[in-house]
Amino acid sequence: MTHVEDIFPKLIPKQCEICKSTTNLSRCGGCLAYFYCNRSHQLAGRQEHKDTCNTVKKARQTVQEEEQKLRQSQPNAFDTWLGSFWTVRETRPYMQAKMMLSETLIRTYHRQGIDDALANFLDMLRLSRSDNRGIRLIAGPLFLRVGQDQECYDFLKWWAIKSNDQNGYDWHDTSLPYLDIKDADVLEPIDVFLNDYAMVIPLVTLLLIKVRLLLEIQAVEKVREILQPHATPERIMKELDGLLLGNCLRRRVELVDNEEEHLNVLSAQIGSLLTAVGDANPHIIPMLLEPDLDELMGPPLPYTRGSKSEALLGLQYTYSAWCESAGAIQGLRNVIRTAIQDLRQSEQ
Ligand SMILES: [Zn+2]
Ligand SMILES: [Zn+2]
Repeated sequence: MTHVEDIFPKLIPKQCEICKSTTNLSRCGGCLAYFYCNRSHQLAGRQEHKDTCNTVKKARQTVQEEEQKLRQSQPNAFDTWLGSFWTVRETRPYMQAKMMLSETLIRTYHRQGIDDALANFLDMLRLSRSDNRGIRLIAGPLFLRVGQDQECYDFLKWWAIKSNDQNGYDWHDTSLPYLDIKDADVLEPIDVFLNDYAMVIPLVTLLLIKVRLLLEIQAVEKVREILQPHATPERIMKELDGLLLGNCLRRRVELVDNEEEHLNVLSAQIGSLLTAVGDANPHIIPMLLEPDLDELMGPPLPYTRGSKSEALLGLQYTYSAWCESAGAIQGLRNVIRTAIQDLRQSEQ
């Protein structure tokens, strides 16, 4: 059976568009998102690349033009309004141009495009701390698409804590720490993410972090079996080099130990997250498992909390990250199947 995830566009790594070489690459000077190993390969790819190249180039130029206009009308805009962009009307055309640039870069399905889109989104958040436009919802999954699971976790955790902050937080005070969580424990209890107001898109992004780590630790377990009795953490990591989806294990090699314990923790957390996701929006998990490609590629629709259109938007933001995580959707199917079996057994 073919699943939608099998036909969804694959992210193109940093390689020559023509011969797939990964050495001696130069970036395309127009879009800065494609690579070629030499001039003749750049010329050979020109015809096919022209439209995308021009679209991205134009989006980059518009950002520069809007920045110039803003600086002309308000020379100190980037100091005076730092942190409060978008709430100040004059800054909106510039922010809109940046939004358009990231959206255009994401549609290239090229790794460099995703890197640049994420960097651009993070710059928008620096300028507009309260994130009136929901950029954090799109940026979260992009971290995973570039293998930065730890950064993604830190990012989601910061927003979860702030949305729970009863004392309030002055979004306009740029002397306050912002997005300053670093190297939080990705296996810690998930309570901080769970509350009545938890939004479904960050929850689905967190779910993917956990599923990716689950798959990685399962791989560690298998490699350990094969290598016994020579299975040191360093040796296991060497075998898994290039196969890992994210950077959590590489950052914390001490996790390559007691796999069974970590797997139990992760399975329980994935179960709780599935419940939380279902409470926030009952449509999204069924749609993630069997999405409608036309809906997925269609324009985002206005939505209300818990609605089918919110689920669709959530899927549009996160689906590529799920597809690019080899085995993740199947891994989720397996977890759900086991949970249903357990439930049936307990009912008998
Ligand atoms: Zn080449
Ligand atoms: Zn180009």
